[in-house]
Amino acid sequence: MMEVAFLGVGEAFGASANTALLVNRELLLDCGPHALLQLRKLGADLAKIKLVFISHFHGDHFLGLPALLLAAREDGREEPLTLLGPEGLSRVTQELLYLSYRKSLEELPYEVNFVEAGEKVKLHGYELEFAPTQHSLSALAISVKRRKKLTYVGDGAPTEELAKLASGSDLLVAEAYGGGAATHSSPVLAAQLAKKAKVKLLALVHLYRGLSEEEVEKAREIFDSILVPGDLETVKI
Ligand SMILES: [Zn+2]
Ligand SMILES: [Zn+2]
Repeated sequence: MMEVAFLGVGEAFGASANTALLVNRELLLDCGPHALLQLRKLGADLAKIKLVFISHFHGDHFLGLPALLLAAREDGREEPLTLLGPEGLSRVTQELLYLSYRKSLEELPYEVNFVEAGEKVKLHGYELEFAPTQHSLSALAISVKRRKKLTYVGDGAPTEELAKLASGSDLLVAEAYGGGAATHSSPVLAAQLAKKAKVKLLALVHLYRGLSEEEVEKAREIFDSILVPGDLETVKI
């Protein structure tokens, strides 16, 4: 069994919290400015989070890191934390910590280990794999496997590599911003991806704030196992 909590399902500038997932209460996938607030609302134990994955360096996906790191310190965290993401994550994290709170990693009472996402890797008992998406800057989708398989796309239109990555997933959580931008997916594109990758369940997230219900209905004609979760909803796969 794998528990996936949708901390937020929103895009950068909407009324829902920024898209982020908490898997089995120990893996955080993306960490926008709302992540800590949503973790608190969910009652998550920050000391139990083992790994944070950052899909790319757009604010709605990584600007919550300083608050998360410092809140974990206030909560008395001592266990090391793994930060996994694009090249440059270590530098970006240190700059953010300094800019936002004049703090450094050395001041944290726990160790932060950085892992660059690229090759398949096994961390904390999970097999993790990555694929690039088509976005306005370099962005990665991730699949998380431990008995069940989850694939998460933070931002970006589907690519061939992504279809392979998502193949056979029990749950595909895919951005479906819509609006016809080449650098974003949409409900229909996400449904086509789910069908091609033969996933069991598709959750649409990161929907444009003004997206019409019709767009989702069109997607349901392509792939019938679609969920449109709300903030703080949880699914078990
Ligand atoms: Zn985004
Ligand atoms: Zn983005």
